[in-house]
Amino acid sequence: MAASLIDGAALSRQVLGEMRTQAAALSAAGVRPGLAAILIGADPASEIYVRNKTRACEEAGVHSELHRFASDCSESEVIDLIARLNADINIHGILVQLPLPRQLNTQRILQTVRPEKDVDGFSWVNLGALVAGGPALAPCTPLGIMTMLEREGIEIEGRDAVVIGRSVIVGKPIALMLIARGATVTVCNSKTRDLGLYTSRADIVVVAAGKPGVVNGAMLKRGAVVIDVGINRLPNGKLAGDVDFDSAAAVASRITPVPGGVGRMTVAMLISNTVNAARQIAAAAGAR
Ligand code: NAP
Repeated sequence: MAASLIDGAALSRQVLGEMRTQAAALSAAGVRPGLAAILIGADPASEIYVRNKTRACEEAGVHSELHRFASDCSESEVIDLIARLNADINIHGILVQLPLPRQLNTQRILQTVRPEKDVDGFSWVNLGALVAGGPALAPCTPLGIMTMLEREGIEIEGRDAVVIGRSVIVGKPIALMLIARGATVTVCNSKTRDLGLYTSRADIVVVAAGKPGVVNGAMLKRGAVVIDVGINRLPNGKLAGDVDFDSAAAVASRITPVPGGVGRMTVAMLISNTVNAARQIAAAAGAR
């Protein structure tokens, strides 16, 4: 293996340690950061994600509470809870664990969260601010990727970057963030005719397709930095990313593992957004 690992587990511990210090300072000033998670139904993957987020809150000294609904709950029940949490002075971040059951309108629910408490960065106000380059609570996975690149000293300005995937939660926001940092960005999707044509020219390749093995070493430029966002459960039960790790690691200079890469940073960024939201909400209340 030529590439060295970008260790998301170690970086996320570093971030959570910093958040612990910041959360303690805020608590000492009378504002303990608080996160409310809403979990609807009993999807096993969602249960694991929420458990990991709750654990990270504990690690950082952030208050957390979990609100559960049965999978057949009504939209108005969920919206009523969000309205209460929007007004709750002890809650600074509201997280609605996705995906939601079919009968619920995901956008209508997400857009009920007050933008100042939208720690997942999915409100149109925060996504719009990302497009316009304004201050925003940014989506956690792309924010985690940017934090990894920055903390690892990986140059972005002037580099060619390829993003595979154009979802609202990963592909589009990471493309915007890379553009804001001066990269030349190409965004590919499932209709892209020849992925390798783009990946083989790129200095930075971010893969968020949800397709194991969609990128392999033969498609990469020597020395590329490879960020694997994918989380796929293989038929043998193992977790795998979207990148064929062994062949890619033989060509790349840096690569993220799955697990232990982007996923860990996503959780750390949720805590970071919650601490920042608490600070900003408290500052705005003090200014009134
Ligand atoms: P998504 O909404 O399903 O979007 C996948 C994107 O990939 C779509 O834009 C799709 O194109 C594109 N795509 C699919 N197959 C492709 C192919 N063969 N070539 C090029 N593009 C292709 O998924 P997502 O929510 O962005 O998540 C992507 C992956 O990241 C999933 O495995 C998910 O579990 C994982 N994820 C991980 C984290 C983390 O914390 N590590 C966070 C979020 C998501 P079209 O638009 O044309 O369909």
